[in-house]
Order: sequence, then C-alpha cells, then structure tokens
Amino acid sequence: MQIVVIGGGVLGTMHAVEAVKRGHQVVHLEREPEARGASVRNFGLIWVSGRSAVELPETLRARELWEELGERIPGIGFRPRGSLTVLRTDAEVAVAKEAASRPDAGHRGFELLDAHAARERNPALRGEFLAALWCAKDASVESRVALPAIREQLLLTDRYRYLPNRTALRITGSTTVEDDQGDRHSADLVVFCPGAALGGLATELTGGMAVRRVRLQMMQTEPLGEPLTTAFADGDSLRYYPGFAGAALERLRAEEPQQPVAAAHHMQLLCVQRADGGLTIGDTHSYDEPFPFDLDEAPYDYLATVVTELLGRPLPRVRRRWAGVYAQSLDPDEVVVRREVQPGLWIVTGPGGRGMTLSPAIAERTADLADL
Ligand SMILES: Cc1cc2nc3c(=O)[nH]c(=O)nc-3n(C[C@H](O)[C@H](O)[C@H](O)COP(=O)(O)OP(=O)(O)OC[C@H]3O[C@@H](n4cnc5c(N)ncnc54)[C@H](O)[C@@H]3O)c2cc1C
Repeated sequence: MQIVVIGGGVLGTMHAVEAVKRGHQVVHLEREPEARGASVRNFGLIWVSGRSAVELPETLRARELWEELGERIPGIGFRPRGSLTVLRTDAEVAVAKEAASRPDAGHRGFELLDAHAARERNPALRGEFLAALWCAKDASVESRVALPAIREQLLLTDRYRYLPNRTALRITGSTTVEDDQGDRHSADLVVFCPGAALGGLATELTGGMAVRRVRLQMMQTEPLGEPLTTAFADGDSLRYYPGFAGAALERLRAEEPQQPVAAAHHMQLLCVQRADGGLTIGDTHSYDEPFPFDLDEAPYDYLATVVTELLGRPLPRVRRRWAGVYAQSLDPDEVVVRREVQPGLWIVTGPGGRGMTLSPAIAERTADLADL
C-alpha cells in the first residue's frame, strides 16, 4: 500500500516505522525542516512507573518496542536504566509502599528501597531522603536526535521518503494530500499526526476533538561530571501519575499540601541524564490558554533547589531553558485520540505526557486497526 504520514513528531515517525515494517511504501510530510514540537522538547523518558493499570499493557508493549528499536538504531540512545522516585516524608513512603504491593508491581519492576539501597543503585543521590521507589522498567532515549536517527534507518529501505518543509493543506477524495508546494500525494491510507497543532486541517477534518493543550517548562544543565545511573523523580510525581492513586495518596494530599510554587505551577520533579552528561530537569503544567510566551523563573528556582537537595551538591550551570506544548485526550479511557475520519484517513493525537513512551505501541495499534 501507499501510505502518507503527516507530521514528523514521534507519533508520525512511529506510524512510518510500523508501515515500513509491514512492507508498505511511505511518504512522510513535516511542515518544518525537522520536528520541533513536543517530541524533541521532552525528557525522552520511557516511563512505565506511574501509568494506570489500564494503560500498563500498552505501556509495556511500547517499552518492548523501544528496546527493539534501540538495539537496531543506536542513535536513539535507548538506555534501560530504571528510575528512583525519591521519598522524603512518611506519607510519600506510604504511597510507594501501597504501589509496590499491588498485583501489577512486578510488571513495573517496582521495589521499595531504603536510602542506603537507593544510593547503591544511584550513588549520585547524596542528599537526605527516607526511601525510594525503584522502577526497573523505566528507560530513556535521546529525543533531540532519536527521530532523525530513526528516519536514517527508514531511508535505507527503498520504501520511505521524508519530505520536510511541507504543510499538508487539504485532503481530497479521502486519501489525496495536497501540500503547500502544490504537490498532491495520492495514497491508499493517510495517517495525520498533528501533535498540538489542533487548528487548521485537524479541525477541518474532525470538527474539533476532546483534546486540551498543556504547556510545560524545562531546563538542561551542563554535564554533571559524574554518572547518574538512574533517572529520578521527587515525591510530587506520586500526585501526578494515575498509577499511584489510592488511599495512601489521598492521605498524602490531605496531610501534606505541595509547596506553594509547586502547587501553583502543577509541578513534579523529573530528572534524567543526557548522553553528554547534562541533566534534563522539569516540569510544570499549565492548562489555560493563551499560554505565556515567556518563561517563568519561580518554578526553575524551585526545581533547582529540589535537585540540589536530592543530589546533595550544587547543580551545574543551566545551559538551556525551554517550554513545550503537548495535546492531551480529555477522555481518561483513551490513551490517544484515534479516529478514522473518512475511509482511509486516520487522525492520531493527544497522547499527553506519555506520548514519547507510548508512541510505538500506538502506531502498532493503528496499523492493526487499519488492517495494514
Ligand atoms: C516538555 C515536555 C516533556 C515531555 N516529556 C515526556 C516524556 O519524558 N515521556 C513521554 O512519554 N512523553 C513526554 N512528553 C509528551 C510527548 O512529548 C508528546 O506526547 C509527543 O511528543 C507527541 O508527539 P506528536 O508526534 O503527537 O506531536 P509533535 O511532536 O508535536 O509532532 C507533530 C508534528 O506534526 C507537524 N504538523 C502539524 N500539522 C502539520 C501539517 N498540516 N502538515 C505537516 N506537518 C504538520 C508539526 O510540525 C510537528 O512536527 C512531554 C511533552 C513535553 C511538551
């Protein structure tokens, strides 16, 4: 089959991977020279730990697919290093304990460690804490370079063409895509992965979707000067991920309000080391549009303080700060919005803060549903 994929982010790229894998011809359009949306602005965390029980099978499948891809394409920078969620209060330890005793804890590779055992796993965590929740399944990739590395591999087949600087403007006859250079791309199947670009063609095709946009602030430091053998998160992340919901989390929320700046910016701490030794640190969440065009310093001060406390050492100089926006399905039962809006024309978006993680499994499912 001839397939046109619109959108060069991770969802579009994974749909291209899946279609090529199944023996089809793919033309891949991206409006920018290179994707520059959420897919390159994220942590690159392949994050299993906090996913809900319902999402877990798809998340584990995605983790498996990332690992396979990472073995085939070293440029992705796949690292199965696991994560530690660092716990600093008894109420946080109770939430982790509850999660680690659930029937699916083994699938996530959960283990509750005391501070000493956690430091054996990640000696860079020299700050004060009580315990940490180990998740063996968490992993990371280098999101700024992963997509070009994947495309390079696809280009080695004779079944893939990447056309950057092409905006898909309209779709006629269900599966012919017209781009802004006046070219028409006829296909048997079109998959449109617009990311957070929810206006224009996406609205025209769907009449609007139950999706909201979320803006996050992030930063990256100079190299740490020592290995960070695992990613880590703070106790606020327990409040954020659905996999930790339960009685212990309700008690945590009731007894220990978040710090005011963390509450105001809907924050958690996630920290992962890049291949160059720098740390990617975040994040905040804002839901009200129009989003600010500038970056707010207060959350950065807070994140720097927490990382400094957990590492027990000063943070290297911050090299970059940025914001990113993702689209998130408003239906809690849908990990992504996936619709066949006309015969042979699929739109797939809205995986939210789990899109990097889930993308290969989402693409596999679309391919199954479309009988590829
Ligand atoms: C700061 C931040 C941190 C995150 N951290 C993580 C994480 O660690 N782990 C995780 O699992 N998820 C994470 N996420 C979520 C994840 O990054 C997103 O869910 C995912 O990248 C969405 O991919 P996408 O391909 O749908 O969107 P995008 O990356 O936005 O890609 C969409 C692409 O489509 C193109 N496009 C749109 N319209 C057209 C058109 N008409 N014609 C041609 N091209 C078009 C755009 O130019 C864009 O390149 C994070 C997100 C952010 C913002």
